[in-house]
Amino acid sequence: MLPQNKPMNGDLLPVSAEEISRLLEGAAPFRRREALSLLGSLTPRRRLTLPEAARLLATTDPMVWEKAAAMARSVREEIFGRRIVLFAPLYLSNDCVNNCLYCGFRQVNREARRITLSPAQAVREARFLEKKGYHRLLLVSGENPGKTDAEYLAQVLRAIYRETGMRILHVNAAPMPEEELALLKEAGAGVYQVFQETYHPQTYREMHPSGPKADYAWRLTCMDRALRAGFRDVGIGALLGLYDYRFEVLSVIRHAEFLLETHGAFPHTISVPRFKRAFGAPLTRPPRPVSDREFEKIVIVYRLAVPPAGVVVSTREPAALRERVLDIGASQISAGSKTDPGGYTQEARHADSEQFELDDTRPIEEIVRMILGRGYLPSLCTSCYRVDRTGETFTEMATDGHIRGFCLPNALLTLAEYAVAAEDPRLREECLAAVEEGTKEMEGSPLAGAFAQKLARVIAGEKDLFF
Ligand code: SAM
Ligand code: SF4
Repeated sequence: MLPQNKPMNGDLLPVSAEEISRLLEGAAPFRRREALSLLGSLTPRRRLTLPEAARLLATTDPMVWEKAAAMARSVREEIFGRRIVLFAPLYLSNDCVNNCLYCGFRQVNREARRITLSPAQAVREARFLEKKGYHRLLLVSGENPGKTDAEYLAQVLRAIYRETGMRILHVNAAPMPEEELALLKEAGAGVYQVFQETYHPQTYREMHPSGPKADYAWRLTCMDRALRAGFRDVGIGALLGLYDYRFEVLSVIRHAEFLLETHGAFPHTISVPRFKRAFGAPLTRPPRPVSDREFEKIVIVYRLAVPPAGVVVSTREPAALRERVLDIGASQISAGSKTDPGGYTQEARHADSEQFELDDTRPIEEIVRMILGRGYLPSLCTSCYRVDRTGETFTEMATDGHIRGFCLPNALLTLAEYAVAAEDPRLREECLAAVEEGTKEMEGSPLAGAFAQKLARVIAGEKDLFF
């Protein structure tokens, strides 16, 4: 029997597994004409509904998926224009009291070399990434009360903000009580990110045999606590490969709708982590593998069903697929990542402290070139979090097509800043050429005049100018 969205401490569970199962079972594939007509009508405002998403996922017609991919790209561009946001994860600790079957950080992995960075060590890693051009980081940590709790994370946040030029720090850590989440918010965390891993309760139980993470409902209600604690932006996702991907995708969409209904804002990001083999983890292959083709469908459906969300693709994925998803709706990618704490500043690779194997190991410079080469604009922008275009405001502005007008100048200003600091003169020229080209698109914008002035200041060496 599947647990229902039973009341828990007065909260309803955001997603009912039974409702999702019913939806999946009853979803008839679309006929081609019906699908093409529906897909052609989608916009940031007219999104794919949950029952429509279920039917699309049941449809195998390649022509329908071709149209869906084109619409996902067009919806992404209506909202964000050509910009693709770049970020890097900063792993703080691989010490963990949980025993997730898929993760190398699990408590009973005796072979893992445990490391928890001090705030000073975390600052060293952040400085390294800052020199590479990053301005936003995702802090990632295992769960260990007393060691990597909210107080520790808050100290790290404060230290990095104080001692580096990092502009926004997001956090991917354990679900916490409201007062601890409030502490992180006060310390300047941007987005709070927790992946449900699997929304299927039975699979969840099997994958998380012990530790605080064994509590499905505590995890599923984390975002409600985060939003009540003052977070304006949250990030959700399912770890692909643990259970039927169609069930997971519909659950994520339902979770996103629940957040909109109860808090007025869609989740700021939806991530698409896919199972990778991890050192010392008992699960050596995914129980329900997700193919590259299915992965593409997942990105497409998220974009069409939750248009304002940043769809985030990490370096777990192979280079060719990461390039492909840029054409079908993804809007944020990590680059040059390490998943072992301290991994950026140490010379040698330490596989025994990594979370899982990475696929796309290209450095940021190559990723910047790749994005430019595909006709997009790499963006190191962090402005929305800093001028309160967040939460409900962000969802409304994105849905109305008003965010794009900020994304373009901010992407161009941050790319220009990146170019000015670039050590490689060829890369500098390539980026500046793209800025010049992109500047033409500013013609007619109410920000055109102010943009030209800010751009000139950035080219002259000023930093951190934005709208
Ligand atoms: N410990 C916290 C937690 O579990 O939520 C946050 C950090 S955990 C390192 C971040 C995410 O990594 C997890 O939520 C999970 O989705 C993902 N992950 C863990 N093992 C993985 C694997 N073998 N392959 C791909 N992603 C994995
Ligand atoms: Fe710990 Fe998170 Fe890894 Fe699970 S996924 S073992 S909670 S670090």
